[in-house]
Amino acid sequence: MEHSKTGTRELVIKTAIKVYDSPASMTQADQKLLAEAKAAMEDSYSPYSQFKVGAAILLDNGIILRGSNQENAAYTMCICAERVALATADSQFQGVPVVAIAVTATSKNHALNKPISPCGACRQSIAEAEYKHNTKMKIIMQGETGEVYEVRSGMDLLPLGFDGSVL
Ligand SMILES: [Zn+2]
Repeated sequence: MEHSKTGTRELVIKTAIKVYDSPASMTQADQKLLAEAKAAMEDSYSPYSQFKVGAAILLDNGIILRGSNQENAAYTMCICAERVALATADSQFQGVPVVAIAVTATSKNHALNKPISPCGACRQSIAEAEYKHNTKMKIIMQGETGEVYEVRSGMDLLPLGFDGSVL
């Protein structure tokens, strides 16, 4: 941080992303979570976008829950896979922290060989889950194939994120 004579300064926020060449380089536990996310895509209801998203979350008690995107003809009603999984955790395992989430997708229109990442709304929901339990949620991201990205916390994807600590 350098102070200039004009009374301004620049803050630089860095995010470390761990990149795996493929899931084979990950731990067995993380491979399993990603495999669960891929399996979750089978339950995607995405007749409009043809974009199937699967998420799997690992709870602190070892339980894995799946979520998939659920679309609606009224587009604004669509719910992302990540928030489906997080809401399942909130409704069935209230009080149990989520320690990791894996997200993956497949598109009917083109090959997804780059990791996909949670949308802004899902990042906010992940941040809420972290704030609620005072924990960090590892996020594992992959496309249909290719490299896997991993960050240590939802806040790594939501710099200057808003949470309950300011209220
Ligand atoms: Zn989302």
